[in-house]
Amino acid sequence: MNSVIPIESHPRLSNHPESSSRHDIRQERGQREVFCGLTGIIWLHRKIQDAFFLVVGSRTCAHLVQSAAGVMIFAEPRFGTAIIDDRDLSGIADANEELDRVVNQLLRRRRDIKTLFLVGSCPSEVIKLDLSRAAQRLNKQFNPGVRVLNYSGSGIETTFTQGEDACLASIVESLPTQALSSQTNTHHESDHKKLLIVGTLADVVEDQLQRIFKDMGLLDVEFFPGRNSQNLPTIDKNTVFLLAQPFLADTAKRIEDRGAKRLPAPFPLGSEGTSAWFGAAAQAFGISEAVLEKALFAPKQRAQIAIAKHRKLLENKKIFFFPDSQLEIPLARFLARELGMQLSEVGVPYIHRQHLAQELELLPEQTLIMEGQHVEKQLDRCEQAKPDLVVCGLGLANPLEAKGFTTKWSIELVFTPIQGFDQAGDLAELFSRPLVRREKIAA
Ligand code: SF4
Repeated sequence: MNSVIPIESHPRLSNHPESSSRHDIRQERGQREVFCGLTGIIWLHRKIQDAFFLVVGSRTCAHLVQSAAGVMIFAEPRFGTAIIDDRDLSGIADANEELDRVVNQLLRRRRDIKTLFLVGSCPSEVIKLDLSRAAQRLNKQFNPGVRVLNYSGSGIETTFTQGEDACLASIVESLPTQALSSQTNTHHESDHKKLLIVGTLADVVEDQLQRIFKDMGLLDVEFFPGRNSQNLPTIDKNTVFLLAQPFLADTAKRIEDRGAKRLPAPFPLGSEGTSAWFGAAAQAFGISEAVLEKALFAPKQRAQIAIAKHRKLLENKKIFFFPDSQLEIPLARFLARELGMQLSEVGVPYIHRQHLAQELELLPEQTLIMEGQHVEKQLDRCEQAKPDLVVCGLGLANPLEAKGFTTKWSIELVFTPIQGFDQAGDLAELFSRPLVRREKIAA
């Protein structure tokens, strides 16, 4: 559900020093309009094809997940909700028993499930349940065979993309340590430097990126998460990694705690961002400029041609971002630099200064960036700015459309494959389409 939460309770927003004098970065606190982290299940379950996501929540949570995934019909769905209802309020012991019963029933029936995520939510009955202990208890019963992990998708502490961060961080946490892995001989530390791509990408995007890495001569590239939850990457001091998504603060931290090194780069959105992202890998692996250029030449040209078609419509149009997905800064960079759009305001729930440093460098000087949210004040500024296009969450889109604004749902930017060269045209189209629709309605 859409929740409105005072920003003071947001654990990530406190005492951030301003890091960039090139931009007008301000912070704002007040009510915020966000979707909760359960939403991430929609794209995570599509990617990790042998995993099941069991939300431990209320009927509201069940409705949210079901309606967000409403367009997808599966014979055997890979997500569900264990509803903690009034009957379970009588005692936590009963709720644990009930959870164990549901998990037993599910895993007996579904032999295809290799990883089970217990996903916490925000109703108070669920908060009282210790899902990490439940996961430990169930692991004793089902692992090996099925690994049981837990994370929180609660709307109290997350923006909707942080559900992915929490999920991936729980997997990293469960990876065997080097000591363990050398005993089991399933993972081993070698001196061979390898590249890991971190962040959920659609399979089609992963395949395209993998082909380009191959053309660059990089054959040992792993993607996390992969399609198969049992195929886990090795992470050690010889791992260097590139983030494919800008909202993976906790996951990146846990990967770094394993000794891996993050390659600073912009995110692979648009032709320019994708080129720089591959460039960071090339530099880390000593790949020459000539080899890199040859590998990127054809896909980059395709991307630029595809983007140019949308530039005619988007150039000089004003865009206003409400904070929602944490993709706002890379998207604003793409729209300003490759499509010529004017940035009225770039709202972002939280700025990870290190992960976004290269993106901030590329944004036009003095871009107004608003970190955090006071939704009422932001709506006032939006009305004053009169943007041609507003990017916002679902809860704000309808009222803004009713007032005559043209909107784009930010959640669509996470559900749709947008990374890499071959998606750059589609990404531009996601912004031009609402303007075309508005023109047609007006005609
Ligand atoms: S986790 Fe909280 S915000 Fe999300 S659907 Fe459930 S009750 Fe609503």
